[in-house]
Amino acid sequence: MKVLGIESSCDETGVAVFDTALAGAAGLRAHAVYSQVALHAEYGGVVPELASRDHVRKLLPLVRQTLAEAGLGVGELDGVAYTAGPGLVGALLVGAGVARSLAWALDVPAIGVHHMEGHLLAPLMEDPDPVHGAPEPPFVALLVSGGHTQLVAVDGIGRYRLLGETLDDAAGEAFDKTAKLMGLPYPGGPQLAALAEQGTPGAFRFSRPMTDRPGLDFSFSGLKTQVLLAWQQSDQSPQTKADIARGFEDAVVETLAIKCGRALDAAGCDVIVVSGGVGANKRLRARLQDMASKRGGRACFPRPSLCTDNGAMIAFAGALRLQAGQHDDAAVHVTPRWDMASLPPVAA
Ligand code: ATP
Ligand code: MG
Ligand code: FE
Repeated sequence: MKVLGIESSCDETGVAVFDTALAGAAGLRAHAVYSQVALHAEYGGVVPELASRDHVRKLLPLVRQTLAEAGLGVGELDGVAYTAGPGLVGALLVGAGVARSLAWALDVPAIGVHHMEGHLLAPLMEDPDPVHGAPEPPFVALLVSGGHTQLVAVDGIGRYRLLGETLDDAAGEAFDKTAKLMGLPYPGGPQLAALAEQGTPGAFRFSRPMTDRPGLDFSFSGLKTQVLLAWQQSDQSPQTKADIARGFEDAVVETLAIKCGRALDAAGCDVIVVSGGVGANKRLRARLQDMASKRGGRACFPRPSLCTDNGAMIAFAGALRLQAGQHDDAAVHVTPRWDMASLPPVAA
């Protein structure tokens, strides 16, 4: 089954084709992402109306480009998947409108995908580990993105139980806001991580929020204040900046690793699947791999480019649901706020 995936929940337009007839990562026939980062940079954050308009401009050319890269005619598609939420309503409606119309014209089924389920399943798109195979439920998922920080017990595809989440800032948001207060350009998360590479470990030590008490929730907003004070009281030299970045990154990574270990204990499994933009962070990947292997398990990630927003994860998650016979009716419908626990299961 060849499924076109369309992502337009925020400031990335993503399009991909996933072919379920091909095993592993080869199933991803083509994917392309257009980022609106430059468009929103001068405002220091995403402007919803500008985002919607830019999706209108970019989506159809990107669909044509992706089909050409996959060597497929539009008539060869067997289904269309699109992000139906959560996200910005106008931006979502652009993707949903295009996807639904295309499916109608081609007389193929369409399915609205939960953006976070897309992130969650992205690691399963990759080639299976030669020794352990592909991760199979039950496992624990850590979703660390710009808008979410969640630990989810995955009992099956579509069967999700929230174990813990952030009470304030998401991990990616904390990276971006911390980068901003040290004067790094928008969006600063990846740049802060790059700067941390030059930092001296231990030169600055920030707290590991909420690790001193039981529970699987997170709180990252206080860290930002700690960094602000340290930055204001420092000599603000380039080395100090890198040292603070390293201290911040270590605090986030360590906090996530501690809670992931506890979540594995709580769920009684030893496989953790990680996704969302912060999942691209090198130190987080290494630390979680280390944590999981020490307990005889493993950590699974998508390649870094599939951690951040993309159409591939939507094509893949949509294909799993379409294959199981699920699809939407002909109405264009989006769900800007959407609880992942309310999704229907996908029968194995
Ligand atoms: P959501 O998925 O919750 O709706 P989003 O789609 O905006 O949010 P993603 O695209 O998954 O989020 O991830 C973007 C976030 O990931 C940004 O906050 C960015 O700073 C962060 N990020 C990307 N790369 C890195 C990295 N190497 N280290 C740390 N953070 C990173
Ligand atoms: Mg984005
Ligand atoms: Fe996302």
